[in-house]
Amino acid sequence: TGLRDYLPRLHVGDAFETLGTPTLSDAFGDEPERPAASVEDIAIRQELIDILSGHASLMDVEDPETPWAPWSLRYSGHQFGTWAGQLGDGRAISVLATPHPDDPELVYELQLKGAGRTPFSRSADGLAVVRSSIREFLCGEAMHALGIPTTRSLSLISLPATSVERERVESACVMTRIAPSFLRLGSFEALNPPANMYFFGGGQQEGNMEALRKLGEWVGKRVLRLDGIDNGEAWGKKLVLDVARRNAKMVAGWQAYGFMHGVINTDNVSVLGLTIDYGPYAFMDVFDKYHICNHTDDGGRYAYHAQPSMIMYALRSLLTSLAPLISAEAEKDGRAVVAGWAEGIPKEKIDEWRQKGVDLVKEDMEILVQQTCADEYSRIMHKRLGLRRIDDDDESKLARPLLELMSDHKLDFHSTFRRLAYFKPSMNYDSNKASLEDYISGLLTLTPEVDRLDRERATTELTSWLQTYAQRIESERAEWEDSSMDEEREKAMRSANPRFVLRQWVLEEVIKAVERDMDSGKRILRKVLQMACNPFDAWGAEDTQDVTALDKETLEERRF
Ligand code: AMP
Ligand code: MG
Ligand code: MG
Repeated sequence: TGLRDYLPRLHVGDAFETLGTPTLSDAFGDEPERPAASVEDIAIRQELIDILSGHASLMDVEDPETPWAPWSLRYSGHQFGTWAGQLGDGRAISVLATPHPDDPELVYELQLKGAGRTPFSRSADGLAVVRSSIREFLCGEAMHALGIPTTRSLSLISLPATSVERERVESACVMTRIAPSFLRLGSFEALNPPANMYFFGGGQQEGNMEALRKLGEWVGKRVLRLDGIDNGEAWGKKLVLDVARRNAKMVAGWQAYGFMHGVINTDNVSVLGLTIDYGPYAFMDVFDKYHICNHTDDGGRYAYHAQPSMIMYALRSLLTSLAPLISAEAEKDGRAVVAGWAEGIPKEKIDEWRQKGVDLVKEDMEILVQQTCADEYSRIMHKRLGLRRIDDDDESKLARPLLELMSDHKLDFHSTFRRLAYFKPSMNYDSNKASLEDYISGLLTLTPEVDRLDRERATTELTSWLQTYAQRIESERAEWEDSSMDEEREKAMRSANPRFVLRQWVLEEVIKAVERDMDSGKRILRKVLQMACNPFDAWGAEDTQDVTALDKETLEERRF
């Protein structure tokens, strides 16, 4: 049929299943039996690999009207709080936008990362190395499995013949990722740079208000799918609030699952509120709210505890970009700003609109972000604690003290939550003291770092926290009069508290294995992908002490 006819119907996993070629879906379970590929299949597969590795494109050079010329997007941004001008896409090339099979209105974009230079690469090579590609590839799927909004991963193709010069010479790798849109807050900033900003190239960057309007309408209608834009309703404020709400939900997910992004620059914050651009990210091990995962982040700007306020900072930059448009809409009595709106408007007027637009939205946006983030965080933490009812003091009496306990006694963040699934309030009865002691000593052995001196204090504090927790659970039992609640809670908590987490050491092992030997490395990569995609499954024996080490054992023992 030819690939060009086929790809517009491409859908994650689906295309590969149909083509009978090994890919992501193989990660689920052992190598599936596949019908022998026909000559035609093999040709299509090769063409697909050529396209997803950046060696061929869907563009027909004979036909200038071809819809699938590859494209890259220009964006700017603030890096570490400083305006940095144009930044990208330096190494991201989109090759296709295709409707979702179940929802034709929902379009998915396929984007190659590391396929070479783009018009926005500046002096860089546009390439990516195996290490960073594996990190992004695995984490996109791990985050999705945890229920956190993210770009998804489709394929990973290594190019051993293309060498990349970094600290050492490495080989290149192209990753294909998928999202309804890869537009970032920096895409708006590029069209209306902050006022009075001069930079190294000299001169002030001029804004383009008409382009800003067009991008806004596109994003509002096609990406966020807001109502009313076609009917001439004002959309500037709506757009900012929608982007804000989505990102607030996303960052709440990060906080609740101990994910640290590491570079929340405004070009790395998506308009759809998807986690995007996995660089120096890390999942928490021992809980430490001041943890910094980016070794170039000396001041801890993007430390774990600062993430929600850094998202807020990024959203303020978006608001600043759209501000002139928002106040123009307000002045025009809510009617849409028409094409060519900013032509002939004096600069002074636009400057006046800049400040006014920020004033019109800032407070509402900040309240919305704080509220959405708090609600979503609370929703997830209730799931993680296995609670059905939401009490006002759950955060102050349960969630926060638990995190403080973890931090004071160096308890592992993920293992402690997972273990809580196996706590029973009955352990608290006097007749059951031995089982409570056992349970607590199990919690403490999850973390080898608890030394003997600290043990006593940790035991006392955990006992007291578990008492509060037990009372809270018992009050729900009384309310629901449900005798099977313990089992249900255990099950619910196991599906909210991951057994497998994509920790740094796991990533290191995978990368080492792939760099050492592609064939066996690929099997390990596939296994880890399978674990990352099913993080709540019971990997290994749950009652073994050190879950971190046990994950390691699981990886090694099974030999994939
Ligand atoms: P980051 O801080 O990782 O988001 O990167 C900032 C910008 O640098 C992004 O817009 C990238 O597109 C660009 N960039 C990073 N690495 C490369 C590269 N090897 N070649 C071209 N552009 C790059
Ligand atoms: Mg980036
Ligand atoms: Mg990056």
